[in-house]
Amino acid sequence: MASEYSIDFDTFLSSFKEKVSKLGFKNSIQKDYILKVLYYTDEHLSAEQITAEVKNEYNIEVGIATVYRTMSFFEELDIIESLDVGDGVKRYELSLALHHDHLVCISCGKVIEFTDDIIEEQQQKVADNHNFDLKDHVMTIYGLCENCQ
Ligand SMILES: [Zn+2]
Ligand SMILES: [Zn+2]
Repeated sequence: MASEYSIDFDTFLSSFKEKVSKLGFKNSIQKDYILKVLYYTDEHLSAEQITAEVKNEYNIEVGIATVYRTMSFFEELDIIESLDVGDGVKRYELSLALHHDHLVCISCGKVIEFTDDIIEEQQQKVADNHNFDLKDHVMTIYGLCENCQ
């Protein structure tokens, strides 16, 4: 979430642009605004929601196909992470966010973020027990939120 990022948007954007040019890819105003939407939102947005937000918030026209292409580009660069809420539609958030896990409501799609030290430690133990060098993990708990029970 935006409030948790350790760097401000301008710094994040300029380092991103530098990375993109170094890799020989093109920067574009659409990419900038997609990142801006992802940076400032408190939600996990789908490609369609991102398209709408770019238009509504910044009055920039960007086609859904461009957003899909941009999201796979960002995923390859590890700029974003995707979340499956169980409806086959990917939601995205910046990898910049502090590590956290998710609770997903299978009825209304609500996403709740959490961190739990014991879960983190336990996973490290499991990895250690298997002589496994833990690099990353994804934990998503599916169920019904308070309102949907
Ligand atoms: Zn719900
Ligand atoms: Zn999240």
